[in-house]
Amino acid sequence: MSDRYTDDDIVMSLDEVSVHFEKEQGLVDSLFNDPDRVQAVDDISIDIEENDVLALVGESGCGKTTLGKTIIGVQRPTEGNVTYRGQDVWDAKDGVGDVDIPYGDIRKALQIIHQDPGAALNPNRKVLTSLEAPIERWKPEMSTEDRRARIFALLKRVGMEPPEDYAHRFPHQLSGGEQQRVALVRALLMNPDVILADEAVSALDVSLRVETMDLLLELQEQFNTSFVFISHTLSNARYLAEKANGRIGIMYLGELVEIGPPEEVLGDPKHPYSKVLRWATADLDPSSQEMVDPPVRSIDIPDPVNPPSGCRFHTRCPEAREVCTTAAPELGDDESTPGAHCAACHRTDPNHEYWESQLLEGVHDSDAVTTGEADD
Ligand code: SF4
Repeated sequence: MSDRYTDDDIVMSLDEVSVHFEKEQGLVDSLFNDPDRVQAVDDISIDIEENDVLALVGESGCGKTTLGKTIIGVQRPTEGNVTYRGQDVWDAKDGVGDVDIPYGDIRKALQIIHQDPGAALNPNRKVLTSLEAPIERWKPEMSTEDRRARIFALLKRVGMEPPEDYAHRFPHQLSGGEQQRVALVRALLMNPDVILADEAVSALDVSLRVETMDLLLELQEQFNTSFVFISHTLSNARYLAEKANGRIGIMYLGELVEIGPPEEVLGDPKHPYSKVLRWATADLDPSSQEMVDPPVRSIDIPDPVNPPSGCRFHTRCPEAREVCTTAAPELGDDESTPGAHCAACHRTDPNHEYWESQLLEGVHDSDAVTTGEADD
């Protein structure tokens, strides 16, 4: 466990949270069949501490954005509880029970930066007007002078100088990187506890990406803010998580399949799916250059409406055995603890019946030779 995780100050806590959506159907289907339900997030427990960095990675449609939005209280869970400093977020919103922290305070404390900052900024409003609006709403008592002083100080802090000049521009007069900085300032104005950065650097040029990630980390440190960073790129996730001494969480079909410090998850991945992601990122796995085939049996991702039984990865896993088709592996008791390294795979348990089970049809024979004992 990392030295950083000695403090028990948990900001957000998700307890056995699931988010299911009803999929749109045709008229005939909707009249005669039960609605299809997409299991976007399934039974996830996780804690976010103060000044924490969690990078969530996975293929498109794996549920990472839905999980991120659930962590910051934007997405209501279908099952389970989401708490902010011990207060149930959705009870606060609905006014259920004794509410210790008003929902408005929770919303202020949890902010989001989107992938496309241009779309998030009103094209007809100057930067200053866009930045003043949230302060006027949440801190109406603040004077115009103080409001502007705070905005200019933050614009300066993110490198937009002179701030008065940038404040009076319209979004189309800013570059993509500058728009993202304005979005970051808008999130920081509320002194948030947690910021969800949803693919926040994906749309930027490669040269700007590192610069923006460094800025995020500097601000995270300076403002004592936690970041949940969503990325489909493992190298970006590693960069942020390593520099911040944070964690990487790997998602597959709505489930968190591996989580832990980046050097452990990437240096010694325990879940076969994490190995696939690492293989697909050449700079993380030099041996991938020599491997002709990816360490996966099928490139088709199953339908999230009807995920495979047992371990959801069994239809693609090169290590799958019969038991994997019926028994769902669990992430482990430490899954929500920052700093713990856990994987939801039967192979992590040297005593699991997996080791006596037959290889699945289609799994290459050479795997049988390598599967005599657990990876770790
Ligand atoms: S539980 Fe079985 S199918 Fe799932 S990842 Fe582990 S070995 Fe593969």
